[in-house]
Amino acid sequence: MLPTDPNCIFCKIVAGQIPCHKIHEDDNVLAFLDVGPLSQGHTLVIPKGHWVTLDQVLSEISAAIGKVLPVIAKAVCDATGTPDFNILQNNGKLAHQAVGHVHFHIIPKTADTGLGIDWPAGKLEPQQASDLLAKIKASL
Ligand SMILES: [Zn+2]
Repeated sequence: MLPTDPNCIFCKIVAGQIPCHKIHEDDNVLAFLDVGPLSQGHTLVIPKGHWVTLDQVLSEISAAIGKVLPVIAKAVCDATGTPDFNILQNNGKLAHQAVGHVHFHIIPKTADTGLGIDWPAGKLEPQQASDLLAKIKASL
């Protein structure tokens, strides 16, 4: 039994209470067109279970998403004639997550449409990298 939230718009879509333009559905994953697209073909791929952020998703569900994500991305790109695309997955309000149910965006990118990215790159210092690696590996 997958977790669900009766107040979640994506859970309502999974339950069929709200219609969607469905691209793919299997036991664990649903993919449908985003109704507020950044470009033609903008698609959402979601687990059918309700988890707020990616780090909460069960590994077998993550694997199911990972299996279909590139297949759906290729179909969207082929259908729209747009070989370039972004995969976007936001976790938390500061990271621009608007719906509290894990979702992956497939966003075809053209010269004029698609995802705009501000990328204020810093510099990774060797000592900082070493410290971070130790902390991250200890948390794995
Ligand atoms: Zn949900």
